[in-house]
Amino acid sequence: MNLPQRITIVEVGPRDGLQSEKKTLPTETKVRLIERLAAAGLGVVEATSFVSATAVPQLADADEVLRRLRRKTGVRYPVLVPNEKGLERAMAAGATEIAVFGSASDAYSRKNLGHTREEALEMFRPVVRRAKDSGMFVRGYLSMVIADPWDGPTPVVLAVDAGRRMLDLGCDELSLGDTVGAGTPVTVDRLVRGFLAADITPDRLAVHLHDTHHQALANVLTVLGLGITTIDASVAGLGGSTVVSDPHGNLATEDLVFFCDGSGIETGVSLAALLDTATWLRGELGR
Ligand code: MG
Repeated sequence: MNLPQRITIVEVGPRDGLQSEKKTLPTETKVRLIERLAAAGLGVVEATSFVSATAVPQLADADEVLRRLRRKTGVRYPVLVPNEKGLERAMAAGATEIAVFGSASDAYSRKNLGHTREEALEMFRPVVRRAKDSGMFVRGYLSMVIADPWDGPTPVVLAVDAGRRMLDLGCDELSLGDTVGAGTPVTVDRLVRGFLAADITPDRLAVHLHDTHHQALANVLTVLGLGITTIDASVAGLGGSTVVSDPHGNLATEDLVFFCDGSGIETGVSLAALLDTATWLRGELGR
C-alpha cells in the first residue's frame, strides 16, 4: 500500500468537540485538556473559538483559555475566527494561527453562517488578509464537501470551486469537512481527485471526517493513498455539527492513532497518554 511514513494530526477536540457539548467546562479544565493533548504528543491543538458567546456559549472564555495556556515549545495552537472582531480578540489574547470557515453547500452556509455561500466566503477576505499580513498561518475549513442534509450530495465541482476561493483568499491550508459523515471511500476518492485535477496539491489539503456511519478510518486510508497527510481528529470522538439535529461525532483521535500505530505510520502521539486523557475528559463531561 502507498502510505506515508508520518502524518500530522490536527486535534480539534477543545474547539469542535467542546462547542457541541451541552455541558460547559470550567476554563481551567479546558486549559488542562489542551495541555494534556500537547503532552500526549499532538503537535497541533485547535484551542478555542472566537465566535460570539451568544452563538457558542461553551467557548465564551476563549480569551481567558488562550491567556492561561502554558504553551509547549513546537506545538501550534490555532483558534477559530469568524470575522475581524474575532481576529482582533484572538490576536490580543496571543493567537499566532487562525482558522476561518466556509461551506461547499449553500443551505448549510445560510443556516450555519447566516449568509449565502458567496457572501460567507467574501466575509473572510479582510480577515485572512490581516492575519497573513501579521505573519499568521491561516487554515480554511470547508464544510459539507460530500453532502448536506438539505441540499443532498455536493457536486465535486462546487466543492472544488469553494475550496479554490478559500485558497485564493490566502488560506495556507484547506480542511475538507465531511460535516455529517456522509462520505465513503468512493465518494471521498472522487472528491480529492477533483481537487488534485484542479492543481490543488495534497500538501495544501487536510480532511475533517465524521464517523457517523463508521466510514472515517476507511476514508482516511483513501486520502493517505492520494497523498494527503494532515488529518483532523477529536479526542474521545467529541463534537458534531451544531445545526444538524443529532450529534455526529468527529473521527476519534485515539482511533486514528491506533490505526497509524498498527500501520507503521508515525504520529508522535502516545496512545496510552491519549486514552488517559479521553477517559479523564469523559469524567469531566459526566459521561
Ligand atoms: Mg467536526
